[in-house]
Amino acid sequence: MIALSEGSMKQMAELLRKGATMLSESCPECNTPLFKLQDGTLVCPMCNKPVVVVSADADTEVMAQQGSIDQTLLTKVKEIQGMLETEKDPSKINTLLETLMKLLDARERVRKLG
Ligand SMILES: [Zn+2]
Repeated sequence: MIALSEGSMKQMAELLRKGATMLSESCPECNTPLFKLQDGTLVCPMCNKPVVVVSADADTEVMAQQGSIDQTLLTKVKEIQGMLETEKDPSKINTLLETLMKLLDARERVRKLG
């Protein structure tokens, strides 16, 4: 879930006032919806910085789709990472590591789809 701070809400409102449009894609770093400025620049209101989009418009949809799979995998990687930090049982650590490796492998495959 996206937790929006008051600051980022204001930033979003400001962007909309400037004629920016909200996109279905979200920031790879914080998952906040991205905004497209009138000059075509993509920005994240939360990170408050331009986001570099790899592809041209034609590929945006494919990229977005890949992005969302990648995003889901990344979320899982972070979850496992968090569990690993506190886990003390060696056999559980082993299972977590295996899962982590599979997730990283899956991310690699998603990237190769493009
Ligand atoms: Zn962001």
